[in-house]
Amino acid sequence: MENNNEAVNSNFIKTIIDNDLKDKKHNTIVTRFPPEPNGFLHIGHAKAICINFGIAREYGGTCHLRFDDTNPGKENIEYVESIKEDVRWLGFDWQENIFFASDYFEQMYDCAVQLIKQGKAFVCSLSPEEIREYRGTLTDPGRDSPYKNRSIEENLDLFERMKAGEFDEGKYTLRAKIDMASPNINMRDPAIYRIIKKEHHRTSDKWHIYPMYDYAHCLEDALEGITHSLCSLEFEDHRPLYDWFLDELNTEHHPQQIEFSRLNLTYTVLSKRKLIELVESKLVSGWDDPRMPTISGYRRRGFTPESIRVFCEKIGVSRANSMVDVNLLNFCLREELNKSAPRVMAVLRPLKIIITNYPEGKEEYLEADVNPEDPGMGKRMIPFSKEIYIERSDFIEDPPKKYFRLSPGKEVRLNHAWYITCEKVVRNEETSEIIELHCIYDPETKGGWSSDGRKVKGSLHWVSAKHAVDAEVRLYNNLFTTANPNEIDGDATYNDYINPDSIEIIKGCKLEPDLADAKINVRYQFLRLGYYWLDPKDSSKENLVFNRILSLRDKWS
Ligand code: ATP
Ligand code: MG
Repeated sequence: MENNNEAVNSNFIKTIIDNDLKDKKHNTIVTRFPPEPNGFLHIGHAKAICINFGIAREYGGTCHLRFDDTNPGKENIEYVESIKEDVRWLGFDWQENIFFASDYFEQMYDCAVQLIKQGKAFVCSLSPEEIREYRGTLTDPGRDSPYKNRSIEENLDLFERMKAGEFDEGKYTLRAKIDMASPNINMRDPAIYRIIKKEHHRTSDKWHIYPMYDYAHCLEDALEGITHSLCSLEFEDHRPLYDWFLDELNTEHHPQQIEFSRLNLTYTVLSKRKLIELVESKLVSGWDDPRMPTISGYRRRGFTPESIRVFCEKIGVSRANSMVDVNLLNFCLREELNKSAPRVMAVLRPLKIIITNYPEGKEEYLEADVNPEDPGMGKRMIPFSKEIYIERSDFIEDPPKKYFRLSPGKEVRLNHAWYITCEKVVRNEETSEIIELHCIYDPETKGGWSSDGRKVKGSLHWVSAKHAVDAEVRLYNNLFTTANPNEIDGDATYNDYINPDSIEIIKGCKLEPDLADAKINVRYQFLRLGYYWLDPKDSSKENLVFNRILSLRDKWS
């Protein structure tokens, strides 16, 4: 695959794997990426994907894509499909190794029966509230359930009837018999199965009991012969339970769980629950809104899979929780696009200029590099004529000191064209709004360079009025106004920190004429403005819509 730029660094997980291979503990490495299909993937998942698929690729092993679909009600097939699309788009391939936890429900049930027979699990009649009360706290031990000593026969009978759908939700749970005094709350007789009377998107109404995450996950890993189960740090305290189930069941494979720190990004929320809220409250237009930190949001915005993989490589793999600056992700994309993006000129908020000494009706084509970083990309021809547009913000009538752009009497360069000097400001008499400027050009400065060595400090982008094509341009900024929207104090909700300027839609933008034939999938650099591409969803031949992927620089850098 095309990951030449992605230097492969070592990390503590690879050190463990290297040792396991040296000790002949395994012949091949098998990892897995196990999303729950209850939402779209976000950039945090991209980190987990790059680690799991990346390690498999590097060691010539395999990585399973496994849907952890043990929780009907929140999961659906739309999420399954979106996850597949996102993993593929990121550049990874699970080949034939696609799995669903729900395919193991029968085996999981049998294992639970085995635990009951071994005297290691019991059916508990405590209500969910009582279970919580009996559990104890971080400082106080819990208490045994009064049902812990049910006979094996009674447990088997009740568990079978739970499966058959005889009981209402909450009436019984199957629990492991471990230790209510354990300092690790996860080990205090955790639930293994609960009754849920909901349709499952794959098994329909076949099951009335569903396994808990901790029980299901280790079995899925063991059944698939995973060698290294790589997950984020919040599962560290669950590892003893992961090992307990596999030890008690004496499974053929006993994968090693290894935890790494989650990705946290500034100005970004990375939690499916919160992202669902944003979608459902319509604060964004959907999971693929270009402001969303979802893979589909980044894709629609115009990020490349390579930039995301490079980012994941750069942030590395460690066990230290940290907050990564979102500008690092932007930096990775800019590095790539600076090399690959064709340059064009586009004026977002046009102000008309009439070049009074340029002949009426004349037009000529000026040559420019498609990309000065890469001469191999060739040249392009840009039409010039008597009337052009520049950016409104590039003219100030009464400029402050050190203002190098256009103002009355001032000379500036039109990129790739000529020097011009502003001679007159024309206003609407009623509103006094500036409607156009009259300028003269110096024919001796073709290409934007003066033969007498005269220098100008300002260089402006422009488009020829009669050749320009119209477009709508959408500018995106951070969705949140606070660097850490995950930690908001007091009564505030994160909705209070939504950036009102996170999207700005500008109509009537004027673009270089070649952009009439802009292609979906080409990322352009609009000179002086940033990187843009056609919105894959809303743009059409008749109504061009460009997304700003990124400005040329971060505002605060
Ligand atoms: P969220 O907390 O956003 O709801 P999740 O952990 O519940 O996500 P899963 O579908 O269970 O979502 O995640 C699949 C895998 O992705 C897990 O192994 C998890 O460790 C990993 N993962 C999720 N979020 C991150 C993150 N921010 N950084 C690194 N890995 C993550
Ligand atoms: Mg989870």
